Amino acid sequence: MNLFTHVNATTIAEATAATAKAGTAPIAGGSDLLTYLRTMCSPNAPTNLVNLKTVVPSMAYIKEEGGFLKVGALTTLTAIANDSTTLAKYTALAQAALSVASPELRNQGTIGGNICQKPRCQYFRFDNDDFKCLRKDPAGTCFALTGVNTYHSVFGPLNGCVAALPSDIAPVLVAMNANIVTTVKTWKAADFFVVPNVADARREQINALAAGEIVTEIQIPTPATGSKSAYMKWSFRKSIDFPLVSAAVLTTVAGGSVTAASIVLGAVYGQPRVATGAQTALVGQAINATSATAAGTAAATGTTVLPTPGGTNSNSYKVQIIKVMVQKAVLATA
Ligand SMILES: Cc1cc2nc3c(=O)[nH]c(=O)nc-3n(C[C@H](O)[C@H](O)[C@H](O)COP(=O)(O)OP(=O)(O)OC[C@H]3O[C@@H](n4cnc5c(N)ncnc54)[C@H](O)[C@@H]3O)c2cc1C
Repeated sequence: MNLFTHVNATTIAEATAATAKAGTAPIAGGSDLLTYLRTMCSPNAPTNLVNLKTVVPSMAYIKEEGGFLKVGALTTLTAIANDSTTLAKYTALAQAALSVASPELRNQGTIGGNICQKPRCQYFRFDNDDFKCLRKDPAGTCFALTGVNTYHSVFGPLNGCVAALPSDIAPVLVAMNANIVTTVKTWKAADFFVVPNVADARREQINALAAGEIVTEIQIPTPATGSKSAYMKWSFRKSIDFPLVSAAVLTTVAGGSVTAASIVLGAVYGQPRVATGAQTALVGQAINATSATAAGTAAATGTTVLPTPGGTNSNSYKVQIIKVMVQKAVLATA
């Protein structure tokens, strides 16, 4: 394991100042960061960690205020999954939180850490930095583009990388038009999740946070009357497994038909993928098997299955699963 120092920040100002130093990263639950450090997979690993759990006032809370559900960045996924208001009114968020990993990891993992986790591609994560992938090294290669890519993007590369977004929470935040509040600014979720260019020092991130910028709060607008949301996730295992395809859906229904639809895919591209065709297909329709199937079909258009060396590593299965996940998530909002 890489050696590192660890300091307990007592205020957000102290955490911000400490995190601004080169080679420093904040640590929340540590469920992603310690795995990354332990495997020594990256030469860019931080050597100083700043503990956010000791910050006062605590950034672990859930409250409704000013037309938003406000969730502190240090709130655990277990707390979100069990919160009665979140379950009733922001259902997709509670379902996404419950779908992450295992009870132990949800008890430890936070929402802030979830949306700042590192990519999960096996070449990025390989022990001892054995693969110089371009998310770690600007002179590197995307090995997955022509290698083992079973779990990867079906909508092509993003800045040269075909790793799929690993976060269960990210597509929900985009679908629900959330704000992500940091020590620097308030981001719209749709602008927050990006794959930085390889020339950018942030190339390892799944978001656009600047060095030293800390997420403090997530704000989700209270859905309009007649709205329901749902999150569906598909992975090989039922537990302790990252999403391979997911769909977050928010619909608003008035007079029996959909007046607004937000449909966002996770784990099929480097960032949350807004399924605009599926949204268009659903608006004006009643929610039923026919309209949900049409939305699923529209969501799966424009896919690009990756090359399959030896014919064994195809990720083409994801295309059919997109259709089914969207169909199920739409029907769950009826
Ligand atoms: C076996 C296993 C299975 C998993 N399964 C899933 C899964 O199914 N779905 C899923 O989405 N994730 C999964 N994860 C990833 C991870 O556990 C979760 O995403 C968790 O929510 C991360 O939160 P954390 O608080 O532990 O983050 P940490 O590990 O503490 O931090 C993760 C990253 O975010 C940064 N960070 C943390 N908090 C902040 C903040 N407030 N502001 C800015 N940067 C911050 C850290 O510097 C670090 O780079 C899994 C992990 C493991 C080990």
